Amino acid sequence: MSVRLIAFDLDNTFLYDADTVSRGNREALEDAAAEHVMTAIASGRVFTSLPAAVLAVPSVEYAITSNGAAIYKLPKEEGRLDENGRFDADRCFTHARCIHRISLPEDRVRAIMKLLEEYPSDRYPVSFETFINGKAYSCEDYIRRPERYGLSPAYIEYVRTTRTMVADMRQFILDHADTLDGLDLQIGDPAVRDEIRSRLMAEVPDIYITASVSNRIEMSNASAGKAAGLRYLMNILGIKKGETAAFGDADNDIDMICAAGTGIAMRNGTPSCRKAADYVTKACREDGFAWAVHGRLGIRNRRAEKEKYMRAALKEAGKAEALDEVPVGCVIVKDGKIIARGYNRRNADRSTLSHAEMTAIRKACCVLGDWRLSGCTMYVTLEPCPMCAGAIVQSRIDRVVIGARSDKSGSAGTVVDLLHTDGFDHQVETEFDVLGDECRKLLSHYFSQKRK
Ligand SMILES: [Zn+2]
Repeated sequence: MSVRLIAFDLDNTFLYDADTVSRGNREALEDAAAEHVMTAIASGRVFTSLPAAVLAVPSVEYAITSNGAAIYKLPKEEGRLDENGRFDADRCFTHARCIHRISLPEDRVRAIMKLLEEYPSDRYPVSFETFINGKAYSCEDYIRRPERYGLSPAYIEYVRTTRTMVADMRQFILDHADTLDGLDLQIGDPAVRDEIRSRLMAEVPDIYITASVSNRIEMSNASAGKAAGLRYLMNILGIKKGETAAFGDADNDIDMICAAGTGIAMRNGTPSCRKAADYVTKACREDGFAWAVHGRLGIRNRRAEKEKYMRAALKEAGKAEALDEVPVGCVIVKDGKIIARGYNRRNADRSTLSHAEMTAIRKACCVLGDWRLSGCTMYVTLEPCPMCAGAIVQSRIDRVVIGARSDKSGSAGTVVDLLHTDGFDHQVETEFDVLGDECRKLLSHYFSQKRK
């Protein structure tokens, strides 16, 4: 059964730090979307502290937040972008729809706070965070003295910018006891944390207690949890367990990893998380998410494919270099097959028409028996010149993937942009910098040899 829904934890699973998304992980999400696989964030974070870098990926459709206590449907792309086409976090939050919410029962909140009266903050390193309607509130002291509460320095800025700071959190929590999606503690002393955790489990039954990182205790409604969030999505989307996959690294991911058809833990995950998983992927920092999306879930790796075809174009460029021509090579691909190849033979043929792209276009027309090359993608090591760009538009090629830019004659945007000219009846989709370094190196090596 192939996967239709992927739920993924953020911190130490998908994100390198508070808000860094690697190219590999972002592209893996896009690859999933290209195969109509839905993706959902599944985080202990509250909605307004979700990182812009993830929300900006249009293929991420759902967010299970606050450990499953609040689930959001994210807006379509236009609901996430400002008038300049840039991601706008406030706009995204305004247009997101909360489709499921379960608050902590008020009597549980009061019971938790009663127990914590025995741990006054002047004597114990205990700090509070709470989530109300997608917003996070935190103790001022938490960012003033992060080391006291075990907050990693990499997260100070994240906490400062995503929380509303409150001076007296204990009072604030009691004042809002009937509306909390989640109540978290940050405790700098592991022994105190373990003691409070055991006492909460024994003395305040019927709450869900978990942790995303070791200095925290995260509490929500007994029927919350990431697994409950994942099941809720499966239910409304009509997706079976066998069609789901979930990624995580921490103890608050274990129930979700077990609830998914394919549970995947990161190599950097906690021992119990790794034990619960069907499969352990590479570490977060090695793009373990992308690794498993392609390798385990069988989703096509479109970058690897692009690089494969660009390598074939580089091989053609090598043929030009062997003839002492400027090394430019090109292939044309249709339905996953290379149907034509070409390389620069301007001197050999004593013809300016013998550019790599012109040769490949002529051959592709022969193979297809048509001047129209619709459905074709061209991979070329150097940005096309005006002549070749003209031929690309005239032949109705869908897409051109380019290695290096050309400052002297680039006609896909560097000097002029003939591939996206409003008045023309055909526009060509373009992508730059696929194996760009290798393509540039080949050219600069050729010209430095010439100068000797
Ligand atoms: Zn050309």
